[in-house]
Amino acid sequence: MARTHILGFPRIGARRELKFSQEAFWRGETPEAALRETGAALRRRHWQLQANAGLATVAAGDFAWYDQMLGTTALLGALPRRFGFDPAALTLSQYYELARGNVGQPAMEMTKWFDTNYHYLVPELDAESTFDGGPSWYLDEIDEALALGLPTRPVLIGPVTYLWLSKSHVAGFDRLSLLPKVVAAYARILAQLKARGIEWVQIDEPALCLDLDAPWLDAFDAAYPTLAAAGVKLLLATYFDTAAPHAARAAALPVHGFHIDLVRAPQQLAAWQAVLPADAVLSVGVIDGRNIWRADLRAVLDTLKPLHAQLGNRLWIAPSCSLLHVPVSLDAEQRLDPELRNWLAFATEKLDELHTLATALNQGEAAVAEALAASDAAQAARRTSRRVVNQQVQKRLADVTAGMADRASAFDLRIERQRAALALPALPTTTIGSFPQTPAIRQTRAAYKRGDIGALEYLERIRGEIELAVRKQEALGLDVLVHGEAERNDMVEYFGEQLCGYAFTENGWVQSYGSRCVKPPVIYGDVYRPEPMTVETARYAQSLTDKPMKGMLTGPVTMLQWSFVRDDQPRATTARQLALAIRDEVRDLEAAGIRVIQIDEPALREGLPLRRADWAAYLDWAVNAFRLSAAGVADATQIHTHMCYAEFNDILPAIAAMDADVITIETSRSAMELLEGFGEFDYPNEIGPGVYDIHSPRVPTVEAVTRLLERACEVIPPQRLWVNPDCGLKTRGWPETEAALANMVAAARQLRGKLAGQVPVSWKRVDRPASAQVGAVVGAVVSHTHTAACAPACAGQAAV
Ligand code: GLN
Ligand code: ZN
Repeated sequence: MARTHILGFPRIGARRELKFSQEAFWRGETPEAALRETGAALRRRHWQLQANAGLATVAAGDFAWYDQMLGTTALLGALPRRFGFDPAALTLSQYYELARGNVGQPAMEMTKWFDTNYHYLVPELDAESTFDGGPSWYLDEIDEALALGLPTRPVLIGPVTYLWLSKSHVAGFDRLSLLPKVVAAYARILAQLKARGIEWVQIDEPALCLDLDAPWLDAFDAAYPTLAAAGVKLLLATYFDTAAPHAARAAALPVHGFHIDLVRAPQQLAAWQAVLPADAVLSVGVIDGRNIWRADLRAVLDTLKPLHAQLGNRLWIAPSCSLLHVPVSLDAEQRLDPELRNWLAFATEKLDELHTLATALNQGEAAVAEALAASDAAQAARRTSRRVVNQQVQKRLADVTAGMADRASAFDLRIERQRAALALPALPTTTIGSFPQTPAIRQTRAAYKRGDIGALEYLERIRGEIELAVRKQEALGLDVLVHGEAERNDMVEYFGEQLCGYAFTENGWVQSYGSRCVKPPVIYGDVYRPEPMTVETARYAQSLTDKPMKGMLTGPVTMLQWSFVRDDQPRATTARQLALAIRDEVRDLEAAGIRVIQIDEPALREGLPLRRADWAAYLDWAVNAFRLSAAGVADATQIHTHMCYAEFNDILPAIAAMDADVITIETSRSAMELLEGFGEFDYPNEIGPGVYDIHSPRVPTVEAVTRLLERACEVIPPQRLWVNPDCGLKTRGWPETEAALANMVAAARQLRGKLAGQVPVSWKRVDRPASAQVGAVVGAVVSHTHTAACAPACAGQAAV
């Protein structure tokens, strides 16, 4: 008998119950007991769904009040000491302080979980960290499931992955030195599970899908014998990529089974079959836990049948990873186009798919003939539907030539033309795009969506907001203006709604972090742009001012990355379709007189494959998609891009290869570390390192901005430096925004003054001889001799 199970279920609830309850608790409007009951009710409901779908076991311990890594930190009792909390007596309020900060302490750092858009709280460890256990919440949840009489299979994040994902503020600290203590803590937890009569525990080690060096691989050998001694059977779960390079080694561990992701990495099956111990379970992830498409059950059965013949009841069938990454249920989607809806499977529907697969294997396909026929029909429809395939898009894609991704001239020449056209001062100031999304703006958008106001009234109000933003920017003395993005609720949704091939769900929420959920749009068909999307807005904004107005677009890779994408063609192909749509928009903006166009790519980094060996291929198509979107304009049109909130140092050559004329990039959180990367790499084009953190309501002082700019001047030639905040300002209010930008502009002006006094009026680019004299056309008076000319001004006292 093949068995079915899942690695985890979305915890937020079909109507985001957990989110609303958490937020009410944070506001002090709901007592803790009510929040706890919301969580308990969701767990019960989700276990019941699993039981109803005939899963052999239900996953427990996958719940989290905010995040599963934070939950593990609490379970182990490894709280950052700076909070001063007693781990064993941790309260829910204190747990949320760890996640969200309190008056005395900033929140724990948060970062993306592998290559997903889910964020976890990074454990903070050092030599004194203790793992003596925390509150009983985890075991209480296991007890809840057991009390319901359900076959309970607890889930834990494994010790090696836990340590791998943790950080230490002590430079050079070896996290692996904590392994014995951590393993001892896990062994105690496993013993407590054993005492409850638990047979199997799923232990997640997705780190096995990364490039691990010898000490980290050795850590598995060191850890697992101790864990095995607890006497429960361990299912070692890997996901998000292939674990085949470490299969032989993993197979020698004293565990009783392995889970592998056959959606992301079907090719790893043979490697695992070759090493699987004779009595071990193989759990195959054959239903996509990261995407919302209905599975091709017939094709999956073709994979499963020989495995079933070989393994019998040692074959377990599962989604590729936890279902955390997909919405809860299609039941909440009544407005989706029925044909498209029929192609989708959210978490609950995926449980049914597992049921069908297991029944087909155990009782024969005839037993599920109807379900299989429905699956076949959905697949066939998707292959041929006119909703999916558009011959014109296909033809256009086939006709793309390599040269279309190249600007007409090299940067050195372009920048001269741009400087002539734009007549900007040195250290030009700008912002990233959005301005405060005031309640009035939100009300306007909501009223329009509800139909309470008509298109004309809406346009009028949005124009009012644009004019307000323009007037404020002029008063502040910014050099390159933006229209403020008042008409946009979300940088992907706004464009997706205007493109063909995109669909939007009503309730397709996925947890991003804590109570924060996102509703990724669905790319289901060939993407194209039926008509211009931003041109009228940009034209209107430009008409209000003589200063250059930036046209603002979302780039193809970010559109792709923040959507549920097609699984019937390579991501690279979808990216190129998006790139062509954006390319058309870029050209239309240029034709409408927009001279600066920003194509945001904040998500470029997060699309990177987990293994370095796969990076080059990804970066190649991703960078190419960006270039294809941008390269259709004349030399004098300046292309900007923007990136934020990721580590960019290891992909700087790829970022340079995007060949944007200007990149604005978030740097304040890493205290300009990133900028040093740009300095060392000698980034060839212009850069605007963010000079203040837009996530804080604190207004940066002129001195603070000046200090950052001076540091920037140490590594970037000042004539290639822009001055801007870290990211868009939509989450801020106007008063702090105006105060911060006023200081930013003042700092830029002061530094301009200093630079002007100390360097010749027309300057040479000493770092790149080919571009000598580029700056002569600018009224600017900056010179880069980096060591001599810029140092006195930029490095201040120190260099004099
Ligand atoms: N242009 C967008 C804004 O300013 C960029 C947002 C982002 O980088 N995530 O809001
Ligand atoms: Zn940003």
